[in-house]
Amino acid sequence: MPEKKTDTLQTAIDQALQADRPRLAKYLSVETVAAKHLGIAETVSVIEQAFQDLGAVVTVWRDIPGSNPFVFATLPAGPNGNADKTLLFYNHYDVQPAEPLEEWDSAPFQLTEKDGRYVARGASDDKGELMVRLSAVKALQQTGGLPCNLKFVLEGEEEIGSPHIQPMTEKHAADLAADAIIWETGGKDADENFQVTCGVKGIVSFNVTTKSAESDLHSSLATFVDNAVWRLVQGLATLRGAKGEVLVDGLNEGVKPLTPTEQAAINDLPFNEAATRQNFGLKLPLLSDKPAEALVNRPSITINGISGGYEGDGLKTVLPKEARAQLDCRLVPGQDPRHVAELVQQQLNRNGFSDLHVSYNQGEPAFRSDLTDDFVQTAVATAHEVYGDAVKLVPNAGGSGPQAPFAEAVGAPIVSIGSTWAGSGAHAPNENVRVKDYAQATRYTARVLQNFSQK
Ligand SMILES: [Zn+2]
Repeated sequence: MPEKKTDTLQTAIDQALQADRPRLAKYLSVETVAAKHLGIAETVSVIEQAFQDLGAVVTVWRDIPGSNPFVFATLPAGPNGNADKTLLFYNHYDVQPAEPLEEWDSAPFQLTEKDGRYVARGASDDKGELMVRLSAVKALQQTGGLPCNLKFVLEGEEEIGSPHIQPMTEKHAADLAADAIIWETGGKDADENFQVTCGVKGIVSFNVTTKSAESDLHSSLATFVDNAVWRLVQGLATLRGAKGEVLVDGLNEGVKPLTPTEQAAINDLPFNEAATRQNFGLKLPLLSDKPAEALVNRPSITINGISGGYEGDGLKTVLPKEARAQLDCRLVPGQDPRHVAELVQQQLNRNGFSDLHVSYNQGEPAFRSDLTDDFVQTAVATAHEVYGDAVKLVPNAGGSGPQAPFAEAVGAPIVSIGSTWAGSGAHAPNENVRVKDYAQATRYTARVLQNFSQK
């Protein structure tokens, strides 16, 4: 029998995970819900203490007006480390509200270990993930020191749309300077592939409203008087084709074609149509015959909700005077959220619907790292080392996040690598992370730092 090589890093990781469990429990015990202004100060002090225990220099930034504090921590490379390399971690300390409480099998703000899972609000998104990273730091410190300089920045408003990220990254660009950024979230997909995700899609949310008269009218007049709800549905119907195509001229201006590396990565992404249909209870045909590619690189337009007129009990034969809808477009790299909202208005005008008014709500551009970047390649190679063959390179997530302001301020590649799995239930009741994945992600994080520092 061959002698098993002693893995001192693994021993240190096992010890760190054991020692750090009370801290994980404490962090998860605070109800840090930004939407309700709950637990912010208490959470910030838990994080400050956690960083101080690791010997970090911690600063709490309270200089962005109206924002919850940002926590910023730095740790220098150890004596044998590469002091020329700096890695920045982004995490958030706020969580989604726990409601509906009756659907939880255990108290949401209490760490419960059950069936090989850590269950609590924030166990995966995103408190558990920070704790994975801190345990990796501790293990590295105990096995020869940190391989590079580390920076951590934590925001407390991610779950309410990161409204102050842009001013923060602009003001603190010099503090955030780094050679690479490790983002929050990431982990294993439904087929247990570990994903290295290199960006996010963008989004723009806008309202479309129209008014057809000063008051609601008798519907007998519909023989010669048009109404707002018909105008709205007819106008919106011109914006999307039968297969989900966004029919807005100029939409793809500035969008670069996929590089061969991006196309190859997309071609390698799995998509299980039967499982998707079953999981979502889908009743309509799919809008794309390449759903995995569409999720990464196809813009969409969605009516999130529509209202107008009367739809209550009984009947009311009314000619509605006004109607409104809320829409979003998911965007790919190269598309500007505000410009897309303007293009929608211009298209409605061209289509004969200038009585429909588009008003911009909120937006975030997409971001995608260069997949051929050294750091992306290091993250992938290290994933193969830790997770074996089951590794997928995802050019960007289907969801959004404030990566673009970071990329602009720091000018570094961004990857999302984490500890979640397909059943983590982020934002849902019984949110969890598998204990096995938590430990594996700790090792992966430590090994990424080591391999990154050697380059
Ligand atoms: Zn998150």
